[in-house]
Amino acid sequence: MIISIASGKGGTGKTLVATSLAISLRNEEKVQLLDCDVEEPDSHLFLKPAITVSEPVCIPVPKVDYARCTFCGECARVCAYKAIAVVPGSVLIFDQLCHGCGACSYLCPEKAISEEGREMGVVESGRSGNIEFVQGRLIVGEAMAVPVIRRVKQKINRNRTALLDVSPGTSCPVVNAVEDSDYCLLVTEPTPFGLHDLKLAVETVRKLGIPCGVVINRAVDGETLVNDYCGREGISVWLEIPLDREIARLYSNGITLAEGSPGWQAAFIDVYKRIKGVVNGIK
Ligand code: SF4
Ligand code: SF4
Repeated sequence: MIISIASGKGGTGKTLVATSLAISLRNEEKVQLLDCDVEEPDSHLFLKPAITVSEPVCIPVPKVDYARCTFCGECARVCAYKAIAVVPGSVLIFDQLCHGCGACSYLCPEKAISEEGREMGVVESGRSGNIEFVQGRLIVGEAMAVPVIRRVKQKINRNRTALLDVSPGTSCPVVNAVEDSDYCLLVTEPTPFGLHDLKLAVETVRKLGIPCGVVINRAVDGETLVNDYCGREGISVWLEIPLDREIARLYSNGITLAEGSPGWQAAFIDVYKRIKGVVNGIK
């Protein structure tokens, strides 16, 4: 089973939930945690894995052989991402815009374009006790997170329960990380901003056809904005984590909830079992 842990906005406690789930389940299930928040992976701060493998992520970018090039402009015309411009005597390639699709080299009539790898990130793998751990890191300044996310997802171990810590928001990297999940757990906070972004996230996962449930973090007595919305939409609220100074203190010290306050482990295991029930019911 693949469970992605996502949120419509940053700072809601998505990593707190993902790492707490992993720690709570580690003696119940074979677990793998994959940090797909490649622009800012932080699950490692809580799981403190020993990284044993580090693999670069490269995309193929074009390289022009000027001995063959006739400056016909075909490569610029076929590039959907405007990553090539042909001017008299030169073919300008904008590496940061190139998606490595290969169209230019394939369609160059003179076969003047070859490809060379450009490193844009790294995928690191290791273990934290009996939890398998994988994370992607995008090189600072790189614009495209998706190739790194795809490489992280290639490491999904189908013999384990895979927990995907997804980047916040509803943009392309989120869609790429969440798609193919069996279930998406959306973490939110009970504020108007949290609700606004939760609605966007729900809309996104519904378009992907993925069932979802909600964890409310920093829950406050009497604040029912999110619960009311979820009730109207038929979305289960699986867990509410209170706004609590001790939880915040643990978190700021790199100690996730399930580890610093083991009483919570039963609650996370229960969330997992409920999700499993939903997924098995669908399959
Ligand atoms: S398509 Fe090939 S020949 Fe034409 S401008 Fe581009 S590199 Fe040169
Ligand atoms: S590989 Fe694709 S995206 Fe990159 S320059 Fe060529 S056509 Fe454009």
